[in-house]
Amino acid sequence: MPEGDSLHRAARRLQVLVGERVEVETPHPRAAVKGLAERLDGRRLERVDAVGKNLLLHFEGGLVLRSHLRMNGRWRVERRGTARAGKPWLVLRGTEQEAVLWNGAVLELVGSRGAPRLGPDILGEPPDYETMLARLRVDPEREVGDALLDQRLVAGIGNLWKAEALWEARVSPWRRLADVQEAELRAVLEAAHTRMRASVEGGRPSRHVYRRASRACPRCGSVVRSAPQGENARTAYWCPGCQVGGNAPPS
Ligand SMILES: [Zn+2]
Repeated sequence: MPEGDSLHRAARRLQVLVGERVEVETPHPRAAVKGLAERLDGRRLERVDAVGKNLLLHFEGGLVLRSHLRMNGRWRVERRGTARAGKPWLVLRGTEQEAVLWNGAVLELVGSRGAPRLGPDILGEPPDYETMLARLRVDPEREVGDALLDQRLVAGIGNLWKAEALWEARVSPWRRLADVQEAELRAVLEAAHTRMRASVEGGRPSRHVYRRASRACPRCGSVVRSAPQGENARTAYWCPGCQVGGNAPPS
């Protein structure tokens, strides 16, 4: 699944088309039925923003196209007229470059005020930690590892950075929010922000627990564990030696 940082990189690549009137095509039949080409063709692309896991493309006239990449979606920017096999969901063609969306998943017009209800972006500069903390406090019974993936509370954190941020702050994903101190929760959010920002800037921050089950924790040497968590059964990775507490499943 694309994380928020890969969305920000896509938004950055798409900046080459900002200010241009674009020709719009929807070659894929599932995209063609949405009538997007008819409504967007010839409009000026005014702005491209990454908001959490969504890319919002603002066109003149107050039209906003929301693209959510889900598992396989991918934006590419190529020279205008580049030959390609297959049917992309969307092509935005400028005078020199064109942006191509493959495997669209979610592609819809949301209108200038109809943006999806998302929590503050973890990649915000600066991030709105106060609002994030307030939203995370709404359901104190929820486990912190599960809540961090809820895009309505905090937008942009995926499973990888969730695991790494919790490890860095020494917080077990299995603790209920009611049992997590404000300072601890803030440290988790700050760790996620710092690491994801570094990734946007092209760094490759090292992983300590994510997909490292059964290996030694680089901090304390305990064996890293993994288990499904939450309604969507996303895999949590944690070190039982230095991320203690909460209702962790028996090993
Ligand atoms: Zn450890």
